[in-house]
Amino acid sequence: MPFGFVYKCDNCQFSVRVSGLWEYYVDGKGFRQRYGHPGPNSNQAKKAGVKGFTFQGYCPTCREVHEAIVIEFVEPQSGSLGACLAYSNSDVQHKEFDPVCDICGTKLIDDLENELCPKCNAGHFIEESRFMS
Ligand SMILES: [Zn+2]
Ligand SMILES: [Zn+2]
Repeated sequence: MPFGFVYKCDNCQFSVRVSGLWEYYVDGKGFRQRYGHPGPNSNQAKKAGVKGFTFQGYCPTCREVHEAIVIEFVEPQSGSLGACLAYSNSDVQHKEFDPVCDICGTKLIDDLENELCPKCNAGHFIEESRFMS
């Protein structure tokens, strides 16, 4: 499911990677953790189940990549595939959110084409490659 883009500055070669959707779980302390893909990256993750998906997008205001929750299940789902199926099943309750920056509240974007480079402030981003995980 995770899919992403790499954008590179046409002046200084600085690159930015935006991607989603990534499975996450909530640990015993209530913190959001990366679940792992395609399988859980720990027993704790496996036990907790997939609570939802996050998106790593670019904040045009902070000018850096931030991660935000875009889908949250009411009940954690078992495994990545289970979570994908649950998302397409309208009987499974979930909430959807616009990905916004946790620092400033600006909507995160995945299309950086022609955005001004935050590193050199002279070049602009162009799409370099796409990847699937
Ligand atoms: Zn640059
Ligand atoms: Zn921001």
